[in-house]
Amino acid sequence: TDPVHIVGGGLAGSEAAWQAAQAGVPVILHEMRGLRGTDAHKTDHLAELVCSNSFRSDDAELNAVGLLHAEMRLAGSLIMACGDAHQVPAGSALAVDRDGFSQAVTDKIEAHPLITIVREEITGLPPGDWDQAIIATGPLTAPSLAEAIAAETGQDALAFFDAIAPIVHTDTIDMDVAWFQSRYDKVGPGGTGKDYINCPMDEAQYNAFIDALLDGDKTEFKQWEGTPYFDGCLPIEVMAERGRETLRHGPMKPMGLTNAHRPDEKPYAVVQLRQDNALGTLYNMVGFQTKLRYGAQADIFRTIPGLERAEFARLGGIHRNTYLNSPTLLNADLSLRSRAGLRFAGQITGCEGYVESAAIGLLAGRFAAAERLGGQPDLPPPTTAFGSLLGHITGGHLVADDEPGKRSFQPMNINFGLFPPLEPGAIRKPDGHQGRFRGKDKAMAKKRAMTGRAITDAKAWLC
Ligand code: FAD
Repeated sequence: TDPVHIVGGGLAGSEAAWQAAQAGVPVILHEMRGLRGTDAHKTDHLAELVCSNSFRSDDAELNAVGLLHAEMRLAGSLIMACGDAHQVPAGSALAVDRDGFSQAVTDKIEAHPLITIVREEITGLPPGDWDQAIIATGPLTAPSLAEAIAAETGQDALAFFDAIAPIVHTDTIDMDVAWFQSRYDKVGPGGTGKDYINCPMDEAQYNAFIDALLDGDKTEFKQWEGTPYFDGCLPIEVMAERGRETLRHGPMKPMGLTNAHRPDEKPYAVVQLRQDNALGTLYNMVGFQTKLRYGAQADIFRTIPGLERAEFARLGGIHRNTYLNSPTLLNADLSLRSRAGLRFAGQITGCEGYVESAAIGLLAGRFAAAERLGGQPDLPPPTTAFGSLLGHITGGHLVADDEPGKRSFQPMNINFGLFPPLEPGAIRKPDGHQGRFRGKDKAMAKKRAMTGRAITDAKAWLC
């Protein structure tokens, strides 16, 4: 059998190599470290963790990343097996001894009879005779390969920084305060004139908000990242520093909006949220990309009327991050629409985090192996964590944008907002539950129903 070529031996590439090889397909894994480093990696081990040593929550019942752990274990994940074997105490989180972990991944890959590791930098797209290949070169993809990818996909389709506005679970927005309306009730393609959720502020609330932004605790760019501010993507706190009125004339302008609950009161400023996924379970805060620290973000954004009880699917950030506009470029099986047999995996596809990157590597490895063996990729059900994450990357996201030159697709961790809603009646009271069933109890029951459904469907998919 001809090999599958995998470029990049990080979290995604190592898992993809393992999965393809376990399916009986030879793999050649091309990794440049050893010859050339990145700005963040420090060793030449495969699957090096560049920052924290945590895989986050290991709670498969109540946490979406914990569920992803569980599904990956069911699928025979190398990253999870090595993580479990090198666990260090971290409460309900799975944290690992970073050197022990990446040494174990390296040892397992080196010892696999079907995997060959070649230490080399790949500087262009895979040559024509690599008819099954996976590019898993991560957020710090080496520049010459990044240029070659951009030449194939179009310059605008490969980003080098993310500029992430916070994303809110829709059902945590107080719609007694906020209301649906597009500016000037404008009906765009596929729109209704009520495409945005609007949160109003009076003058005192706006001024307090600006003060909080100016005082808020911020993170700095690392020296090698540079300062990637470009027009249309300034952090809100930088806009606030340019003048107290800047935001009110920018993303928070109140023009063309009427408070549906108090039509006689003209809002002084308005925070707009735009639908972020096809399911409508997530909304992003328009223009709110930020370098504020996470704790400060949650505190400050919950002062916005209507968002007092907001739960964030992700908070904002701006980082060096090479990633594709995947929903427009990739098929559901992670292959490039413009080139059959060439897949992408890991953070470069627009997922975020060690575990998510490895999960997408796991899927890409399986899909490539299936095709190499003459079959079809078997896609995970959308109700699973695998399927939900894959759906975010390859299709579930709304790409249509009313702001020319801006992309709405931004990297995302796995979260419950990516899962399809439950069927009516699926949320059950726990045995012995007395009284009214709402609030925290109901939220936990909803999570249990989602994770229960996911595990059942993942088992059926894998058997
Ligand atoms: P990587 O793990 O980066 O693997 C890509 C591999 O490709 C690397 O080994 C690289 O050397 C190789 N490569 C690149 N170009 C080439 C080429 N042309 N030829 C051959 N090989 C090449 N996630 C978290 O969950 N927690 C964190 O705390 C965290 N902190 C981060 C801090 C920084 C500074 C960065 C940049 C990212 C951080 N992330 C974190 C995200 C993290 O990088 C990803 O979650 C994860 O490592 C991505 O996995 P990957 O396999 O896609 O890429």
